[in-house]
Amino acid sequence: MSNAPSTLQAFRASLLHFHADPAFSDAAHAWHADGLLVVDAAGRIVAAGDYAALEGTLPFGTPVTDWSGKIICPGFIDTHLHFPQTDMIASPAPGLLPWLETYTFPTEGRFADPAHARATADFFLDELLRNGTTTASVYCTVHADSVDALFEASAARNLRMAAGKVLMDRHCPDFLRDTADMRASEDLIRRWHGKGRAMYAITPRFAPTSTEAQLAATGELARAFPDTIIQTHVAENRDECAWVRELFPQQRSYLSVYEHYGLMRPRALFGHCIWLDDEDFRLMADTGSAIAHCPTSNLFLGSGLFDMARADAAGALVSLGTDVGAGTSFSILQTMNEAYKVARLKGSYLPALRMFYLATLGAARSMQLEGTIGNFAAGAEADFIVLDPKATPLLARRTANAGTLEETLFALALLGDDRAIRATYAAGRLVHEREELPA
Ligand SMILES: [Zn+2]
Repeated sequence: MSNAPSTLQAFRASLLHFHADPAFSDAAHAWHADGLLVVDAAGRIVAAGDYAALEGTLPFGTPVTDWSGKIICPGFIDTHLHFPQTDMIASPAPGLLPWLETYTFPTEGRFADPAHARATADFFLDELLRNGTTTASVYCTVHADSVDALFEASAARNLRMAAGKVLMDRHCPDFLRDTADMRASEDLIRRWHGKGRAMYAITPRFAPTSTEAQLAATGELARAFPDTIIQTHVAENRDECAWVRELFPQQRSYLSVYEHYGLMRPRALFGHCIWLDDEDFRLMADTGSAIAHCPTSNLFLGSGLFDMARADAAGALVSLGTDVGAGTSFSILQTMNEAYKVARLKGSYLPALRMFYLATLGAARSMQLEGTIGNFAAGAEADFIVLDPKATPLLARRTANAGTLEETLFALALLGDDRAIRATYAAGRLVHEREELPA
């Protein structure tokens, strides 16, 4: 064994990650009560296992960061949110369409100013990291500069982020109106997609704000760049669904509009999916498209209750999105809290282990990124968070008498928020650390 400084680093804590979906497998998760996560100099996972088994394999001098008493799990993945809406979170309006008119469009209009876009991107990404979110699929505005701002800020933090320019060319104010010309999106794809950890997301806002010409051009763009993300909204509320029926009377359903224009495929993420029928859920599964369930947003706007059991029955990919600014929190833990309650109102039950799966490996699978992020497979990118089960007096009191892992995770999901994220690492590098509370 040489005395050269080790190029590895290691982290000691309880470890939790997933190999499979707990809804469909009894052996879905790995748990190491006294675990060790080993990361190489390139920021990739070398090993994850029991401390006693791995400690002796470390080269001499390998630094070990001791997070004993905490839980390390993969960084959360938020599959649906809008970075320009950071400044309008918690804005009151009776429903989606008035909310768009009153708050969303004017707020997004401010992103014509690149300096505003850059400042907001910095705040936005730091807020994600404070909440333990290391990857997100992000809507920018129609302004190409807003995408540059987001990806520049993301590259500075070495984050795996998907983002794209919003496409809309009707039913929106003139100052946000786009055309069916895809050159700006294509330029952004060539500039950013696959550069470092950036992934481009082709982003038609939703069917009502695109002409048929723009939807057709968007579908062609998606075919030309088949490994990009596609992201849009579908079947969020009833008024919107009725509007889509008027605008596209020839299509069987709202979702069929996207299918018709070639926008359903692996790496296509559909926000909300509340008012889908069984045929839609099957279509989602058959095309490898994925659902971004956004419970805080759905409750805030009164949009409706997503039916996880029906999505599961169809075998559709599901993940969690905060949908800020209609969502009311950047915290995936708070999003789990509301997802749990929505499931109860639909007569089903969502265990904490399943919710942690949805926020990590489930989301990675939704984005076709298994093996890259979402768990601690050897070679995966070392994006992880340190959860503190004693982050608040109430959490400490509750988790002290938790009898099982499920109870501890459930308490974190129901009582936790950004305070429960003790630290966040991206590609093995510390990108957020919360001050320890006084004892
Ligand atoms: Zn949204």
